[in-house]
Amino acid sequence: MGNMLVEALSTLTRTKCWVRKDILLLEFTVSNACIISGLGKQKDQWVLVDTGLENSGDFIRHVVEDELGLGKKPEAIILTHGHFDHVGSVFELATHWDVPVYIHPLELPYVTGKKDYPLADTEVDDGWIAKLSKSFPHTSIDLGDRVHPLPEDGTIPHLPEWRFILVPGHTEGQIALFRERDGVLIASDAFTTVKQESLMSVLSQHETVSGPPKYFTTNWEEAKKSIQKIIDLNPQLAIVSHGQPIEGEELRNRLQELMNHFDEVAKPHHKKTVE
Ligand SMILES: [Zn+2]
Ligand SMILES: [Zn+2]
Repeated sequence: MGNMLVEALSTLTRTKCWVRKDILLLEFTVSNACIISGLGKQKDQWVLVDTGLENSGDFIRHVVEDELGLGKKPEAIILTHGHFDHVGSVFELATHWDVPVYIHPLELPYVTGKKDYPLADTEVDDGWIAKLSKSFPHTSIDLGDRVHPLPEDGTIPHLPEWRFILVPGHTEGQIALFRERDGVLIASDAFTTVKQESLMSVLSQHETVSGPPKYFTTNWEEAKKSIQKIIDLNPQLAIVSHGQPIEGEELRNRLQELMNHFDEVAKPHHKKTVE
């Protein structure tokens, strides 16, 4: 029921927006994905990062047709982690395009049917989405042979300018993607720019920098360290999976503020921690 509601919410507004010349952000109200395209002659070599919800596949395919051309397919799909609002359409799209999927080795068991995420914790917050989160899918999908571990050295197949940074806490093997040249960071759920636990905040996309979605986050010490790791990268633009992109001085200030007050603002007060 909660899941059906979130799927329905995800179709309320579905938008696309080029946030950089080669980065197309796809927004499905409750979560985001993005396309990193090649530039110039390499325009045809692009990848999809995350896949939205189970009903996001059609929209993604239409955007690809409109923006990149009919019959175009990515080199690969990169998953930042295995939560349902990031892997929802991965099976459909990877099969349709017949392309490989990559994820961090620590996250692999959650997309190959070997390990389930813990059930969402509804007690973390009074927000509606937190209350509904109990019925969010938490069991492993199984991508079988289609999914491969990302290389150990931090490189990302088909994205020579980017490297991945392990930002655990929200999940064991969550990654962010970073491009040194212009400081673009795809932060996944390491932090959010909405209060993702609250339905009103998600619908209005009211901007506030917050920690990872509380109901699914398991290790708050790791989550905090991941914020410091991100600050140390000195990103210029952050594309998050929940909320609007944030950049420049505002990004720097808000991240530092989040780090300084992490225990009060990010952590749930009843505190569920898997050590
Ligand atoms: Zn997540
Ligand atoms: Zn998420």
